[in-house]
Amino acid sequence: MRIAQPYERTVRRALRTVPHYRERYAATGTLPPLTRDEARLRRHLLMPLDAALLPRRDPGRPPREHVAELREALRIAGHPVRGVDVYEVTRALRDPVRAYGTTWRVLLDATAETDGPPGRPAPPGGPALVVGDPGWADGTRPDGVVTVARFGLAAAARARPAPGSVWYEPWLGYLGAVAADCGELHVDTARVHARPLDGGTVLTLLRRRRPTFVHARPEGGGAFRPERCPRHGGPVLRTAGRPR
Ligand SMILES: [Zn+2]
Repeated sequence: MRIAQPYERTVRRALRTVPHYRERYAATGTLPPLTRDEARLRRHLLMPLDAALLPRRDPGRPPREHVAELREALRIAGHPVRGVDVYEVTRALRDPVRAYGTTWRVLLDATAETDGPPGRPAPPGGPALVVGDPGWADGTRPDGVVTVARFGLAAAARARPAPGSVWYEPWLGYLGAVAADCGELHVDTARVHARPLDGGTVLTLLRRRRPTFVHARPEGGGAFRPERCPRHGGPVLRTAGRPR
């Protein structure tokens, strides 16, 4: 029961304060899975009632929250971050964030749209972790630069992600990682609650309110079911229907 409490609190708060969930619950008596497309179309209805809907009054998500998520994913994956710079390959620039004994920077993805040459950060030259999609760091890299692959569940359903890689869904953020020592896909339990619903795994983000995500179903979620790690005991996702 103790473990379920943050999830139940999040659901109750969503039913109380977030229009999308109030509507769904009133119509069906349940909270059905929320897909990425639905979340995009109804984004304004996923904001709590007391939250500003005007873009100019919505400063977006603080970079520190994003960094905290990434840091926890890297910790689960088994990558120490203290003393190394961490670079994240993204499509948008962000000011460096100093936290957890390191500096968190971004590297622009090759597909990022830019107005001109200024602002493109230099690739790391010293001890660094670079978090990017598979293939980004193929080829040679400087000494001391370690690349960390990130994956979504849709890709993980097709090919088992390597130990040490981090789980990332662009619309939900960093959610967990494949632990280096057990090879299981561990969920970041402080932020993410996973449960089966309607034949797939759905995710509730316990700390995110703007937007609020309850029973979000990532692409590929139908291939996974929540279980316990045989070695560590914590919640993991495993592909359904075949032993791993
Ligand atoms: Zn484990």
